[in-house]
Amino acid sequence: MLTTHPFDDDKLKEECALFGIFNHSDAAALTVLGLHALQHRGQEATGIVSCDGERFHAHRALGQVGDTFADPRVMAGLTGRAAIGHNRYATTGDTVLRNVQPLYFDFDFGGFALGHNGNLTNALQLRRQMIRRGSLFQSTTDTETIFHLMAVARGGSVLDRVVEALRQVEGAYSLVGLAAGMLIGVRDPYGVRPLVLGRIGDSFVLASETCALDIIGATCVRDIEPGELVVIDSSGVHSIRPFAPAERRFCIFEYIYFARPDSRFENRSVYEARERIGAELAREAGVDADLVVPVPDSGVPAAIGYAKQSGIPFSLGIIRNHYVGRTFIEPTDHIRHFGVKLKHNANSAVLKGKRVVLVDDSIVRGTTSTKIVEMVRQAGAAEVHMRISSPPTTHSCFYGIDTPEQEKLLAHRYSVEEMAKFIGADSLAFISIDGLYRAMGETARNAQHPQFCDACFTGDYPIALTDRDQRATQPELSLLFEGGRA
Ligand code: AMP
Repeated sequence: MLTTHPFDDDKLKEECALFGIFNHSDAAALTVLGLHALQHRGQEATGIVSCDGERFHAHRALGQVGDTFADPRVMAGLTGRAAIGHNRYATTGDTVLRNVQPLYFDFDFGGFALGHNGNLTNALQLRRQMIRRGSLFQSTTDTETIFHLMAVARGGSVLDRVVEALRQVEGAYSLVGLAAGMLIGVRDPYGVRPLVLGRIGDSFVLASETCALDIIGATCVRDIEPGELVVIDSSGVHSIRPFAPAERRFCIFEYIYFARPDSRFENRSVYEARERIGAELAREAGVDADLVVPVPDSGVPAAIGYAKQSGIPFSLGIIRNHYVGRTFIEPTDHIRHFGVKLKHNANSAVLKGKRVVLVDDSIVRGTTSTKIVEMVRQAGAAEVHMRISSPPTTHSCFYGIDTPEQEKLLAHRYSVEEMAKFIGADSLAFISIDGLYRAMGETARNAQHPQFCDACFTGDYPIALTDRDQRATQPELSLLFEGGRA
């Protein structure tokens, strides 16, 4: 889900987690557990909407799941046998609460709540049109657009309205929706963001990742398919395909970095995919060295794969402090620099005098790598060779991963040799795009019909970027300026 910011309105901020459960006596409590397992997808705000017959109950707050739902009074209010929940990435700001999901509105058919992971690429265009038509927006999220489209839809039922609304939006979306007697799950026709279906006893569950099913003891039934809408009600799970079919383009960065390694998508283990990427990286970019050291935690599985393939011993040469959030999401460059030091420390007992292969998943701005290379040298390493388990990130993501604007991406500004100099490494290498696809079990990237969305590495954007393309010619909406960093 996207929010905009007055000084930084092309910076997308949406790294979200979804959970939904239908027909369970502990619906809200299990939603808390599911959201807790998905905390890595968004740490700054969280919310749950439950449904008790015809009545809806909501609690949304800034902060993490454990803190927000620790209060028994909060949980006591979330009654009912169905619930949906959402974790959201957001930066600070006093207007932020109105953007915290799940969003909820009353319709003539009753209440409807929605949680969104992804980013709509024509939301601003639609918003302009609807404001002209008389809509009054309550938040600055793109997700609210779906409600307004539903409100003016011709069809009467909740399902007709959802489908009619979604046929007008472009972009990446996985959604969980809650109406009286009904849980809905949808993935956009390209299936960019994940959503899985699980089962616990007689209850069905939807979640962004399978790790959220594991925590509640649910089994994974299957991935929701790209372009599929499932309705879960008292008679079971019903599947419809209301959209024109499109090419499957699941986000390859979910495998590289974003998802938890113990999750599975499309019958692939994220952990195993990362290990294979590391092994492929060792084949492509081997180096004479004494130690393979991961940048924890995200670099660990790829570093294990690299070490196994190269025969170079694996060692924990960097120790991570687990009590700080992801450095990447700090709001300013100054704080971000500080954040890297808060999070990682070099382990000189391991590094002294050694030629080190450092493995991380990605270089975005180069902040993390620069600090870590320096730290590892100060701890006495003789050589530092950086190996990255993704191709160079040359393009921004508009489909639901938070990346800075293109000008801030190190790989957009510099060649690999220049980047090596910038981060201070003796050598630097990235996995090739075909190597990445090989690690995913493909023979190579299909240039005409890529098997994944890899736009951040190739600039090949499968879904139109209407709002971005129109920005130069369209006046800004004043609401967006008033909205603040949300
Ligand atoms: P940077 O320091 O800007 O080069 O960012 C690279 C580091 O941020 C890597 O260690 C990644 O693990 C991490 N990272 C990459 N993409 C993201 C993202 N979208 N959100 C949070 N962290 C990220």
